[in-house]
Amino acid sequence: MEQKTKSGIDEIHILWSSEGMSCDGDSVSVTAATLPPLENILLGLVPGLPKVHLHNKVLSMQTGDDFMAPFHAAARGEQGPYVFVVEGAIPNEEIHDEGYFTSMGNDPETGEPITLSSWIDRLAPKALAVVAAGTCATYGGIHAMAGNATGSMGLADYLGWDFRSAAGIPIVNVPGCPVQPDNFMETLLWLLYQVAGEAPMIPLDDKLRPTWLFGKTVHEGCDRAAYYEQGDFAHDYNSPKCQVKIGCWGPVVNCNVTKRGWMDGVGGCPNVGGICIGCTMPGFPDKMMPFMDEPPGASLSSLLTSKAYGPMIRRLRGLTNTTINEEPKWRHRGPRLTSGYNPRHGGDTGKGGSGGKP
Ligand code: SF4
Ligand code: SF4
Ligand code: SF4
Repeated sequence: MEQKTKSGIDEIHILWSSEGMSCDGDSVSVTAATLPPLENILLGLVPGLPKVHLHNKVLSMQTGDDFMAPFHAAARGEQGPYVFVVEGAIPNEEIHDEGYFTSMGNDPETGEPITLSSWIDRLAPKALAVVAAGTCATYGGIHAMAGNATGSMGLADYLGWDFRSAAGIPIVNVPGCPVQPDNFMETLLWLLYQVAGEAPMIPLDDKLRPTWLFGKTVHEGCDRAAYYEQGDFAHDYNSPKCQVKIGCWGPVVNCNVTKRGWMDGVGGCPNVGGICIGCTMPGFPDKMMPFMDEPPGASLSSLLTSKAYGPMIRRLRGLTNTTINEEPKWRHRGPRLTSGYNPRHGGDTGKGGSGGKP
């Protein structure tokens, strides 16, 4: 059933590229959403929304030219209103003289592959909203680790942190490896209501994350927090107690899965025995490695959990939180690879390649 919206936009497309440096895990993850389920949006069961068409290669029944047609039409400005979703890190195509790192479809004129960077250049400025799904797309993630050969970066590193969509909306980052399904669907729902004229500007923090989803730490929602407060710590993984001494970064990581769970309220890393490795953070993974070591300040803070020392501990945690909320400095555009990549076989890193030394 066609729905009329306040803004007059009655039909909208979601153009979703998972052709970045990606494992497609975020596409798979959103199929587990319940708040709302993706299929409810696509079937028009959520009131007040335009009719939504999803174009995602993992979830699509179409293949080949049929699948690519809406992307080409959007690049020509002929597709109508759309939201552009990017999954996966963006490799730096400026650091080599030939070839490419990743592409999606071919140019109908030349038959040449179209790189992800080129798609972003074509589609992002015309989109009503641009969303980065998962940590690779938001901040670079594991593909952007120290020593990587591709110069991978997050979407805001590529487009610029002050980028605005055709509707004046900043890039919206929904990190997580993979993205928590309901975090993504709530964000998408907000943006669809916003373009329908039913919601105000989406509230984002300075890392472009929805504030209502990433405003609290893992620790603040953890089922094991009472053990922490009592100074009762796990020393191996076969324990229900606080895991800070075996590597949990929860006290300084912005993530809501200890409250929300992973699928329909079930799971949520520390709640079910997994240490938090900070997969939602801009500094992930480099600033949290090695994962199994005790995070900085954990011994002190776990010793001093009292009213008297609480404010000092919160300040120290604030400093660590600020550090890991910054991406490493090598995630950037430009012809120079500064990740510290060291080609083992004496190969050329390409145009401007650093050969391992920034
Ligand atoms: Fe895969 Fe995680 Fe990257 Fe998503 S964020 S593409 S799930 S590695
Ligand atoms: Fe905090 Fe991690 Fe301990 Fe949970 S397991 S209380 S998140 S330190
Ligand atoms: Fe990632 Fe930690 Fe959140 Fe688990 S609790 S999803 S490891 S940030």
